[in-house]
Amino acid sequence: MRNLFDPSYSRRKFLFTAGATAATSILLKGCLGNPPESTKSGTSSNPSTGTTANLTAETTPETTSAKLGFIPIFEAAPLIIAKEKGFFAKYGMTEVDVSKQANWGSARDNVEIGSVAGGIDGGQWQMPMPYLISEGLITKNNAKIPMYVLAMLNTQGNGIAIAKSQEGKGISLDMSKAKDYIAGLKKAGKPFRAAYTFPKVNQDFWLRYWLAAGGINPDTDVNLLTVPAAQTVANMKTGTMEGFSTGDPWPARIVGEGIGFMAALTAQIWPFHPEEYFAMRADWVDKNPKATKALLKGIMEAQQWCDKKENRPEMAQILSNAKYYNVPVKILEPMLLGTYIMGDNQPGIEDFQKAAMYWKSPRGSVSYPYKSLDLWFLTESVRWGFLPPSTLENNAKALIAKVNRSDIWKEAAKEAGIPAADIPTNDSRGVEKFFDGKVFDPENPKAYLDSLAIKKV
Ligand code: CA
Repeated sequence: MRNLFDPSYSRRKFLFTAGATAATSILLKGCLGNPPESTKSGTSSNPSTGTTANLTAETTPETTSAKLGFIPIFEAAPLIIAKEKGFFAKYGMTEVDVSKQANWGSARDNVEIGSVAGGIDGGQWQMPMPYLISEGLITKNNAKIPMYVLAMLNTQGNGIAIAKSQEGKGISLDMSKAKDYIAGLKKAGKPFRAAYTFPKVNQDFWLRYWLAAGGINPDTDVNLLTVPAAQTVANMKTGTMEGFSTGDPWPARIVGEGIGFMAALTAQIWPFHPEEYFAMRADWVDKNPKATKALLKGIMEAQQWCDKKENRPEMAQILSNAKYYNVPVKILEPMLLGTYIMGDNQPGIEDFQKAAMYWKSPRGSVSYPYKSLDLWFLTESVRWGFLPPSTLENNAKALIAKVNRSDIWKEAAKEAGIPAADIPTNDSRGVEKFFDGKVFDPENPKAYLDSLAIKKV
């Protein structure tokens, strides 16, 4: 199955040498069953909050530390905010390390080895990466590293950026207007090149959905390639590709620096779509169930904080920090408030409802990991031939039941005192609607596949 995924993808190990010793000592401490250190030790770096949850025997975490990876895009905000605003510390997780990953391949490699070997215990993931890692489809030697999906980090906040050289060609949300232009490029031997940050996950899916909805076959009419998020601005400047699909703030930097324009926001393609997820190694969760819930409580509190419009300027300040995004506040803040300059004569967008959301959207809970949304990612994987059709017929349900731990989310939410109205009682979000009129009914994924004109299956 290894050949299903880009074999040329960087497998460079990104070792956290500084963290290795600390991780070992914490592990030993955990084994000896010592009580966690006072939560006060972790609040010194979090001057903005002095709150500490009242920890009981039921809620005191087994360990105070965890190593979480992130990629510097808006998706990571709940992890960064939970660390910086003291929400992890509040629940006893005083030594959470939120570590920037060089790219998605590095994140995958780091979770494969775990924090005990200098890697990470979990963190931020595109979908269905936790499934692909659990099944050994993108790991070294096809090793199966069981993972649990624990929460959705965000919705929206992603887009498709296009190089300035492509202005005036009709490249916009509705790609049927640019279909002839794209076909002409192919005929001329210079096919349109579009990049994503990792193959066969979210960003690849958004690009494929957008192109196919306009009658363009992503496998035969254009060239798709992988470019790490941090290199996209430079690569578009030098003309490595004409388009790319990635999380904010990178598309907006393209606009801000006059390199290109925004063709579409994912918020337009599929309003309140599932974006990236919080997932951890299953062995870590099984060993540290209370610490897992403590992490989740910290993330939930951060998500609620992030969704308050009045907090977004401070959020931009925190994320702009060199150890996180290293991007100026003036680039981050407008997008966090829903202001998008689209370019190429498309009207600008000024709508907070189109910005990244973290806790609640008009579709209900953002944070809750709906199993029906996992099923869409698996269905879309079948659509493009990344997973065999038998996935849907035989084992999707069992796979989702194994990987998706919405039960842990619910327990954590209850412990955190989240109102019952904000705790979904159904693992299905119901029927999903896309901008081109297509619908995905989780009760009948086959009908969705049948309705699509362009697909590989
Ligand atoms: Ca994303």
